[in-house]
This record gives sequence, structure tokens and C-alpha cells, in this order.
Amino acid sequence: MALIVQKYGGTSVGDLNRIRKVAERIIKVYTAGNDVVVVLSAMAGVTDRLIQLAHQITKDPNRRELDVLLATGEQTTVSLLCIMLESMGYPAISLLGYQAEILTNRAFGRARIVEIHADRIKELLSQKKIVAVAGFQGRDQQGNITTLGRGGSDTSAVALAATLRADICEIYTDVEGVFTTDPNLCKNARKLPKISYDEMLEMASLGAKVLQIRAVEFAKKFNVPVHVRSSFKEEEGTMVVEEEKDMERVVVSGVTYSKDEARITLTRVPDQPGIASRIFTPIAEAGIVVDMIIQNTRKGGLTDLTFTVPKSDYQRAMAIQKEAAKTIGAEQVLGDEHIAKVSVIGVGMRSHSGVAAKMFTALARENINIIMISTSEIKISCVIEEKYTELAVRVLHNVFGLDSL
Ligand code: ADP
Ligand code: ASP
Ligand code: MG
Repeated sequence: MALIVQKYGGTSVGDLNRIRKVAERIIKVYTAGNDVVVVLSAMAGVTDRLIQLAHQITKDPNRRELDVLLATGEQTTVSLLCIMLESMGYPAISLLGYQAEILTNRAFGRARIVEIHADRIKELLSQKKIVAVAGFQGRDQQGNITTLGRGGSDTSAVALAATLRADICEIYTDVEGVFTTDPNLCKNARKLPKISYDEMLEMASLGAKVLQIRAVEFAKKFNVPVHVRSSFKEEEGTMVVEEEKDMERVVVSGVTYSKDEARITLTRVPDQPGIASRIFTPIAEAGIVVDMIIQNTRKGGLTDLTFTVPKSDYQRAMAIQKEAAKTIGAEQVLGDEHIAKVSVIGVGMRSHSGVAAKMFTALARENINIIMISTSEIKISCVIEEKYTELAVRVLHNVFGLDSL
């Protein structure tokens, strides 16, 4: 007998038929004698629709109220699943984030889980109930409803699995596992049988939305084995685990892309001590996270400074920089929302040289201009024009030998 946490994503609970299929899967595991905690997302498209509704009223909806609204998506699916399970003759109970005592900080819209008091869930499991927890939501110290950021149900599931010391956390989704790149963009993408936490962390942070990055952080920290698999097929998916000696020794194991960032350039900035601080301090004070930064040197004590911010913060960041440019005497503030970041990732890069050169050459051969570059021990990212994203991903996937045979 095992304790299994299963999470089903939006497409997997997209209509009643699919919820019935999910119920059947749960029943199979439950009747085999296991304890089952299920975490659900909202039905596919619902969270987007709720956000749109709020934005029809105002560009900047009250963040607390937006979280109250968004949390309803998951409330719908957990209750429907439990009604379904009960109607099929199985004991089930739904818990919203606050009832499951998923405690978070107060950052509405991107709250972090601080702790989970799982006594109630444990009690319900001991009564042989199937427990369905609403993903993506928790409550802060004052009892306000919070949400965990897009894709946050993954994090709810892994955090619950860590707290309950579950034997496994299964993430059921609309693809068969973690692939070498997004299988919906590149038909040659290959399913990986295993991937290390570190590679998955990079992939998640660089755009592979198959797992939310915080879910991978939890999994790594608490050593939770995560199995990403299809809710429509029976085959095994991808195990996300500690790095192992026998892991495929390839240099590059995945290619990702993200269209979620925008670029801001300040031209002819005086090249003096303290200038970067005056540019980035107001950005930080506004809670905006800067990703890449580059500085070009010009003649005559002037430089150009370029950086990227999340697209959702672009307008605010531009307004802040226009003010900053006046005080520091920069010439112009230019912005571009039509960029993409493509990245190659692999732990094998630690011990291989020439990966960057190979990447740049492959992009050059397609006449794709590289706007910015950043590297870490196990990844290289290039910012390019958005319109070349698909081409760049396919070319890099091919050139690093990742295409399926
Ligand atoms: P869910 O609603 O089940 O949480 P998501 O849409 O959040 O599903 O995540 C699954 C999607 O992630 C896939 O449909 C796929 O398009 C995308 N994806 C991006 N990169 C990858 C990758 N490397 N491997 C698998 N899926 C990926
Ligand atoms: N429903 C939320 C979203 O669409 C959370 C999730 O699906 O994980 O982002
Ligand atoms: Mg998701």
C-alpha cells in the first residue's frame, strides 16, 4: 500500500467525460489499496476566461479580489470530481486550499507556500476517503485566499506530496511526459524516460511549462519523486529524479523557448559609478524581476544598457525607465515586446566546451540575429526576434542530435 498524490491539469478535467475518466483512474489506484490525494486544476481555459472578465472591468484589478475570482476555477473541478466519485460509489471529499491548510505568504497572484498543516487530510485518509484538493490556491495568515501563479497546481501537488511524505507525485497532463522540447511545437521531440531535478529546474524556468518551476524546487528540496505522464494513455511518462550516474550522457538534453519577456534599452547612458543602481533600484522597488542584462560600451563615456523584464510588467517598467532616463541623462528609452528567448539545457555542458559556438553557428546559418546572450553552468540562452522562435527551436533540436530517429 502506498500514498499517492495525483495531479490532473486543465485539459485532463476539461469536461465531464474527462472528469469521469479521471475518476476511473483514481478508483483503480484506490481499490488496489492505496491512499490517494488528488489535486486538480481548473477546466482548460477557465482561468484565462476569469482573468479576461476582470480585465474587462479594469486594466488593474484589485489583486486580492482577482485571487478570490481565480480560485473558483479549481473549486468547480474538485467538487465535480467528488460528486462523480460519490455517484460511482466511492467515498470522496473535496478541500479548498484554505480547508487543506495550505498556508502562503500574501503575494496575491504569485503567493509562495510557507507550510501545510496536513492533519485534516491525514485524518480523512485514515477514514479511507479519497481527498481532492483544489490546486493553485492557499490562504495567507489573515485568511485571505491567495493563488500561486500560473501553472501553480503542480506546486500544490508536489508540496502536498512532500508534506505527506507520499511515495510518488504523479502529474497527469496532455502530453506523455517531459520531452526534449515542446512536442506541440516540434514533431521530432522525444520523450525523456528520466530527467534530473536540475535540468528540469532549468527547463521549467526557461519556458517548458509542463511543470511549474516552484514545483520542481519543492521536489528537489524534499526529494519527491515526480512522474509526469499522460492522462489519456497508460504508458509510463518521465521520472524527475536526483541526478544519477547512469543518466544519458548527452551534452544537451533539451531545448526551450519563452515568449514571456520584453526588452528595454536605455541609450547613451553616462558611464559612471552608481548609474546601474539608479536604473535598477526603482525596478526592484516595483517588484519587477529583471532577467538578462547587457551593457555595451560606446566612445565618449557613454554606454547602452539593455535588459529584459516579464511582458506582464513591460508597461510599468517602461514608465519607470522614462522617469529614470530623465534624472540620469540617458538619451532614449527603447522597448521591444516581440522577442523570444531560446535556450539549450544539459548537465553534460559542465564538462564540454563548444556548445555555445555550435548554438550561435546554427542560428547564424538560418540568418537569425542574436540580440542578447546569457549562460550558466548548464544552459545557454539567446534572445531573438519572436517571429523566428519555432525555426530556432527546430534547428537547435536538430543540431544537438535530439530529433527522434
Ligand atoms: P496542464 O494543464 O496539464 O498543467 P500545461 O499546459 O500546463 O498542462 O503543460 C503541458 C504543456 O507543456 C504541453 O501541452 C506542452 O505544449 C508544453 N511543453 C512545453 N515544453 C515541454 C516539454 N519539454 N515537454 C513536454 N511538454 C512541454
Ligand atoms: N488553473 C491555473 C492556471 O491555469 C493553475 C494550473 O492550471 O496549474 O494557471
Ligand atoms: Mg500546467
